[in-house]
Amino acid sequence: MRLKELTLTGFKSFNKKTVLTFDAPITSVVGPNGSGKSNIAEAFRWVLGEQSLKSLRGKRGEDLIFNGGGGGQKVNWASVLLTFDNQDHKFNVDFPELTIGREVHRDGTNVYTINGSEVRLRDVVELLAGATLGASGHTIIRQGEADRILNADIASRREMVEDALGLRLYQWKISESEKKLTKTEENIKQVESLRREIAPHLKFLRREVEKIKKTDELRAELKRLYLVYLKIESGYLKNTRASLNSEKHQLDSDKKTLEIKLGALKHEANPSEEKLKNLRGALIQTANGLRDGREKCSDLERQIGRLEGIIQFKSEIKTSAVLPTENLSRDQVQTLTEEIEQLVEGGFWQKIRELIKDFWQKIDQRERAVGADNHEEELHKFKTEQSDLENKIKLIKNQEADWLKKEGEINLALEQTLALAREADRESYELLARRREEDAKLALWQSRDDKLKIEELAFERELKEGEVLVDKEILNYREAPISSGTNEESRDEQTARLRVIEKLKIRLEDMGVDSGGVLTEHKQVEARDEFLAKELTDLAASRVSLETVIAELRARIDEEFTEGLQKINLNFQKFFTLMFGGGEASLKVLTEPKRVRASSAETDEPTGDNLMIPDEEVEMRSGIEIKINLPKKRIRALEMLSGGERALTSIALLFAMSQVNPPPFLILDETDAALDEANSCKYGDMVESLAKHSQLILITHNRETMSRAQVIYGITMGADGISRLLSIKLDDATAFAK
Ligand code: ATP
Repeated sequence: MRLKELTLTGFKSFNKKTVLTFDAPITSVVGPNGSGKSNIAEAFRWVLGEQSLKSLRGKRGEDLIFNGGGGGQKVNWASVLLTFDNQDHKFNVDFPELTIGREVHRDGTNVYTINGSEVRLRDVVELLAGATLGASGHTIIRQGEADRILNADIASRREMVEDALGLRLYQWKISESEKKLTKTEENIKQVESLRREIAPHLKFLRREVEKIKKTDELRAELKRLYLVYLKIESGYLKNTRASLNSEKHQLDSDKKTLEIKLGALKHEANPSEEKLKNLRGALIQTANGLRDGREKCSDLERQIGRLEGIIQFKSEIKTSAVLPTENLSRDQVQTLTEEIEQLVEGGFWQKIRELIKDFWQKIDQRERAVGADNHEEELHKFKTEQSDLENKIKLIKNQEADWLKKEGEINLALEQTLALAREADRESYELLARRREEDAKLALWQSRDDKLKIEELAFERELKEGEVLVDKEILNYREAPISSGTNEESRDEQTARLRVIEKLKIRLEDMGVDSGGVLTEHKQVEARDEFLAKELTDLAASRVSLETVIAELRARIDEEFTEGLQKINLNFQKFFTLMFGGGEASLKVLTEPKRVRASSAETDEPTGDNLMIPDEEVEMRSGIEIKINLPKKRIRALEMLSGGERALTSIALLFAMSQVNPPPFLILDETDAALDEANSCKYGDMVESLAKHSQLILITHNRETMSRAQVIYGITMGADGISRLLSIKLDDATAFAK
């Protein structure tokens, strides 16, 4: 690695773009006071990542930007580019040339670049640390700070030595690891706090989930019972319904048969009534006929009797010619007539008419007898008439027999018809009784049907409830692997089963767990807790691995530091002897106690008395102590050295440190200011010796030092406050002068 060039644009007094190339081992920067020489050293420091504005002699970022000073135009940004030849890949990148850049704007924004690409500060720091260009500043010695290493405390000294030994990369790695470790610890605390935060809720959710599990068990039991119940119940309902339907069918059929029979009986009974009526009519008719015949007969007999009387009378007249002795006066007749008339009015008209007729006949006969001439003829006539009447009576008698026979027949028919009617009535009563029985059976059937309908509705209700309380699988109860029974015993079992089902339902209701929401939430919170637990495990593992890395790095630093320190001591002794013509100088590792506040804030420098105030702690701090022993002088404490002696001692130490692990370049800003001529010469010798391994940029007013440089940059500043560059290659100048 070789320093190639530095380009400043708008940086401090360098308004215009100014390029310094570093081709020679030693480059000297010279110029009058205030011309801008130190600004160049600061440009190096700044571009390498310096964060302290104070060490750059500024307060704000814009103090680094050319401010227009004596007339030059104010600019808005400043930039510094530092270019290295990286063919040896000392910088751990593939590029053969590396340019590190930094820009600052008036708003204070900083931009870092590596080969033109914007990067983070830490990328720059990491890159430099790997190339022994740490920020401790041992490679850039500021004006007046040559003895800084002598003034520094033991810990800072150690840092400088570590930097010089190239251990800063490890330190940087340790610091990065420590940052990560701190972050990890914070994360662990954060994660632990998050776990603690969710722990009560998780506990609650776990309890709820337990309840849900219990609920699930209850639900499983409910499901099992439901399946058994539903299957048995459906079988029972199906069979009962089938049996009721068949019974109903039979009952309907029986009733229909009865109705038909009853209808038929009614039909049969009606003609019987009619017949009965006819027969009764016929009987009355026959009786009337008989009565009329008999009345006619007696009438005929009466007529015969009259004829017999007439005939007897006529025969007597013939024999004795004696007239009848009846002697009725006119008044008697009149009286008789009136009686008769009264009788007529009384309604016995037929009888009376016959009496009157008979009477008048008798009257007529008696007159006629008086006046008759031919009795024989009359007699004969009457006998004939008598004979006719007797014949008529015979005829009537004959007819009476017929009537009687007919009456007998009719009575028989009537008797039979009545018997048939009675039989029909009896049958009808029987059928009606049976119909009443059937109706009773139907009523019973109806009540059983009603009961079954209620059971069917209850079944449907249970099915729906089961579907809601358990799941849809309930609907497949028919496939449940159990045998269903329908006998009475199983009905009792069913009742008992349903009671258990009801109890389970109540218990489930009482538990009142909203399983859906809780389970989802529990899953989420449990997953989150698991995630956090895993995070904790990972973080703990990463803590262990970081602690291991830190421990290893520290061990490595210790090892390399001890080795490096021995080498530095060898060189320190050599350069010290060269500077002072003898004496002793060495660096020693020192571990000393340091009082700190319990809060870990540093309080004091070590006092050595180890006295403790109650809220203080002692922390062991290790660092570097410088031991010197000047020749011919009893000076052992650094504080006792003169200014020149301090400068010589620090130069000897700086050079010794640079010898062990030579940095790519060293910038020494008037480090030689306090040296007398003789020592300037020795300083020049050491500078030349150092230049074998590191490029040197020497800002100086010292001619001796200038004479050791191959290139001299002259810096001037005009009235415009702008630094300008003038380069002189001494060889060319010497040749030119010759
Ligand atoms: P000496 O030899 O006395 O040490 P020097 O050459 O090292 O002097 P510097 O300290 O590098 O001089 O430069 C200081 C000069 O830079 C001053 O003149 C100062 O005004 C100028 N300067 C510093 N910051 C700015 C800035 N932001 N803009 C313009 N000029 C600035």
